[in-house]
Amino acid sequence: MSLLSVKNLSARFGAFTAFDGVDIELAKGSLTGLIGTNGAGKSTLFSAITGYITPSSGEVKFDGHDMLPLSIEKRVEKGLSRTFQVPREFSRLSVFQNLMAAPPNQAGESLAKLFITPGRVRRQEAELAERADSMLQFLNLARVADTPAGSLSGGQKKLLELGRLLMLEPSCIMLDEPFAGVNPVLVEELSQRIVELNQRGITLLIIEHDLASLSRLVPRLYAMDRGRIIAEGKPSEVLADPRVREAYMGG
Ligand code: ADP
Ligand code: MG
Repeated sequence: MSLLSVKNLSARFGAFTAFDGVDIELAKGSLTGLIGTNGAGKSTLFSAITGYITPSSGEVKFDGHDMLPLSIEKRVEKGLSRTFQVPREFSRLSVFQNLMAAPPNQAGESLAKLFITPGRVRRQEAELAERADSMLQFLNLARVADTPAGSLSGGQKKLLELGRLLMLEPSCIMLDEPFAGVNPVLVEELSQRIVELNQRGITLLIIEHDLASLSRLVPRLYAMDRGRIIAEGKPSEVLADPRVREAYMGG
């Protein structure tokens, strides 16, 4: 059964079509890649699925719910989250504070605090801090917990971005170029974390330019070119597809 089902989705900005007639099906617990040359429309597609832009037509269903009428926050509540190609950390906050700041609607910082007893707020914050601590361990960021996020390396920022997203406890995560600007050692580490998350039952869709690393990681790929899905299947099949080869050769 599909967890995420995208049908005939299109996005137009004036006369420009960012993507057109896109169909994507992600089975629950699957691990899938999305490749395509620059400007193919991959990031914009993520934005439409997660609510950052409004598509002009088509359907996005997640866990049986129609996502398109929902705000970004409601989609996150349902379990659907994404990262950005360029990490969006709070650069002056520490790594730990960045993790603490990730979950929306924290009791301590919303209207809810008027109605919730201070004891309960403290308990929730303690739980959150515990989760942030285990996230630091999981992502191997404990050493830099108190470092301002702005001074992390490119790879560490990608790990933090993943951590911030995981604090939202998503069931499906969409990663936009997680390996870009990351050194090979951290690519390996990031790949392992991704596999572990998938083994815990999280469904993943990953945009990536590093075709070799992505092909090792995922059993299934979609390829996009000029706003359309042009191939789908096992990485070896998709990478051998003449349309995909042509797109990458600069047809
Ligand atoms: P990819 O991630 O595959 O490299 P993008 O999704 O970033 O490609 O971009 C696809 C195309 O859509 C690009 O030509 C980009 O300039 C255009 N685009 C994306 N968002 C907008 C927008 N809000 N308004 C106008 N054009 C946009
Ligand atoms: Mg992109």
